[in-house]
Amino acid sequence: MMIKINSRLPDVGTSIFAVMSRMAQQYEAINLSQGFPDFKVSEKLIELIHQQMKAGHNQYAPMPGVPSLRKTIAEVIHQTYAHQVDPEMDITITAGGTEAIFATITGLVSPGDEVILFDPSYDCYDPAIRLNGGIPVPINLLPPGFAIDWELVKSKITNRTRMIMINTPQNPSGAVLTESDLRILEEIVTKYGILVLSDEVYERIIFDQKVHQSVLRFPGLAAHSVAIFSFGKTFHATGWKVGYAVAPGEISKEIRKAHQFITFSVNTPVQLALAEYMTHPEHYLGLSKFYQEKRDFFLGQIKGSSFQPMTCYGSYFQLLSYKGVSSKADVEMAEWLTKEHKLASIPVSVFYKDKTDNQLLRFCFAKGEETLVKAGEILNRF
Ligand code: GLN
Repeated sequence: MMIKINSRLPDVGTSIFAVMSRMAQQYEAINLSQGFPDFKVSEKLIELIHQQMKAGHNQYAPMPGVPSLRKTIAEVIHQTYAHQVDPEMDITITAGGTEAIFATITGLVSPGDEVILFDPSYDCYDPAIRLNGGIPVPINLLPPGFAIDWELVKSKITNRTRMIMINTPQNPSGAVLTESDLRILEEIVTKYGILVLSDEVYERIIFDQKVHQSVLRFPGLAAHSVAIFSFGKTFHATGWKVGYAVAPGEISKEIRKAHQFITFSVNTPVQLALAEYMTHPEHYLGLSKFYQEKRDFFLGQIKGSSFQPMTCYGSYFQLLSYKGVSSKADVEMAEWLTKEHKLASIPVSVFYKDKTDNQLLRFCFAKGEETLVKAGEILNRF
């Protein structure tokens, strides 16, 4: 008998990041689509990993992560957000931010639970909820500001609402949440007993004197939240896939139950090396300045273009509106730019459940100047 495949995600294809990166390669286009830095990882950090490997630290790490790394993270969180966490119980090292998100949802969302999320949302959120039987409740945020209407959020809360997912600085919009946003969220989740999944992987990339508003800064919120971070973004090493989830012990316990069966543990030498490397704040404190200069350099290159930048306060993504250039749909526009003009980007409609098309493309500016100059030359044709 033929096998009948019942897809759990019949409407999902290959991730847009893989699709566009592949198209960029195929057409030899400059790749500003998938977000990853093309800067070198620090020699020092590579040396530390090498040392750990040579010293024989090549077997399984403890399931929740190497103790020295969790201790360092707890110290950094205390210094950065004035929040005390227990490294033993509250921190779980994961295979990147994506696994942290998946383990959190798998551990804490039950079939039939509703999860409020804000579109445009990162592509793994909705499938992670649905694979676990949860019901995504998307709320659209719109340009130019992508601000959250909290009255609308309140109107979506039901007795099945289990979780609200936020992302600041936000991928793909580059918007950031304000202190007032977080205070309102705190009021809501403490009133209704709702969990927050806060994706903060771009915590260190924030511009124009804005301050990153981590859920960990707000005690009431921290008590209800899982905050998710990534070393890949902070240390130019997205390929290592190491991140972590921070949550009160009772919540972390459930995340770990899922994590132990998804990956069990994360590679040992990288964790040990990061534990040491991260004890020096100069290794991560300059990142906002570095990326703000990148953003401004990129924007400087496209001053004469009809591609219009939206305000970007954080992350390494710049949205450009092409309303003044073409009336094509954004997916078509991204393909056309890649094939005909050799510049790859990401169409923003793919981050909306209802495929809202605001004629925006996302460009990653985590690239060397030469690449940004070349991309600018292409955008200046319009
Ligand atoms: N976070 C990266 C982006 O937004 C992509 C990571 C991936 O390819 N899954 O472009």
